[in-house]
Amino acid sequence: MRSPIPDYLIEALAGVMPDTSGATAGYIPELASADPEHLGAVFATVDGEVYGAGDVDDEFTIQSISKPFTYALALADRGFDLVLNKVGVEPSGEAFNELSLEGGSGRPLNPMINVGAIATHSLVGPEGRGPAERLERVVGGLSAFAGRRLEVDDSVYASEMEHAHRNLAIGHMLRSHHVLTEDPVAVVEGYTRQCSLLVTARDLALMAATLANRGVNPVSGVRVVPEAVVRQVLSVMSTCGMYDGAGDWATRVGIPAKSGVSGGLIGALPGQIGIATFSPRLDHHGTSVRGVSLFERFSSDMGLHLMEVPAAARAVLRSNHVVGTGSTAIRILQLQGGIGFAGAERVVREVVDTAPGEDRVALDLTMVHSLDDVARRMLLEVARRLTLDGHEVYLVDPESVLPGPDPGDGGRVTVVDDLDSAATRSGVLTDA
Ligand code: GLU
Repeated sequence: MRSPIPDYLIEALAGVMPDTSGATAGYIPELASADPEHLGAVFATVDGEVYGAGDVDDEFTIQSISKPFTYALALADRGFDLVLNKVGVEPSGEAFNELSLEGGSGRPLNPMINVGAIATHSLVGPEGRGPAERLERVVGGLSAFAGRRLEVDDSVYASEMEHAHRNLAIGHMLRSHHVLTEDPVAVVEGYTRQCSLLVTARDLALMAATLANRGVNPVSGVRVVPEAVVRQVLSVMSTCGMYDGAGDWATRVGIPAKSGVSGGLIGALPGQIGIATFSPRLDHHGTSVRGVSLFERFSSDMGLHLMEVPAAARAVLRSNHVVGTGSTAIRILQLQGGIGFAGAERVVREVVDTAPGEDRVALDLTMVHSLDDVARRMLLEVARRLTLDGHEVYLVDPESVLPGPDPGDGGRVTVVDDLDSAATRSGVLTDA
């Protein structure tokens, strides 16, 4: 069978093809002259499957889509405290190239607008390194997100630097407020090289999928940044990634995203998918017109809006029954699926309401495929309280979804591979 997903992407591209509104970025000559008809879309799943249609392998410069990834590198290299001290996380509601700083602190409002991104560029790599080493860390880091070595397009770099008066003004403003403590021209040059890295829509989808996959590139398997960094980056993308169009985007599309003036657009849906589109004509926010239409369609067709409310946790409890009689009786709660806070609360409530009279209680995790940390802690607390109430507690856990269970303080659990061994062991214990 042929997968329907590439066919769906082809159909989606055909749907936006007639829209020729918008214009290529006028302020960078090399981008202004780009072929406006380029069009491509790629999905990359968190287990490394890549689907694409249209211009999937054509190279273009990454521009502002580099910003969330550079922010991730700065957080990983210098730590949250230092980076947050220099660059805030508040949406600015302003255009991408606004010369603005937060009143009072003098920090850039966020790392997605140019003023914050230029400051962020200066924070990549260990302190005290020169511009060349820093750029190498940026190129190497973004390459790790993409899973292949990326190169700078020197002609786009030169073209943008010739007209970079506004970004240079931003650099000098940052220097005068001591957000930058080094030569601002060198930092703006480094930032502009960062923006001039050549990528394809396929690269961008994999970079987004690395964010969706908690910081591990799903094809190479390389962990690029820690999970806590990814959470920070996705949060900032969802509030600030689309500049002064962020609110509109959050309500209509609801996927953490970042646009770039060469026509790329990425979205990262945590735990599911990285998406990239490429079409160079831009709207007045500097975002690809067809890219926005494609994301609106993807979000509504596939229910990808982050605020889409998931199915209730009711199905976590598969059964609550007793096997055996008298002193060999064992109360079994069979759980299933992925368990988060709401599912664990359902289990807690069931145990409280049942108030098991049997000496032995088993939590059967055979059909549980994942336990959030909070669910793990809640189930262990259930085990501890049952022990304190005088029960023997069994965990049926053949796949080790709850490895090394330690209920702590007075709690005790016996791990078994299947229900029979729980019942037998219970019988053996009874006989003994
Ligand atoms: N290199 C561009 C600039 O700094 C990036 C802007 C963008 O892609 O939004 O002006």
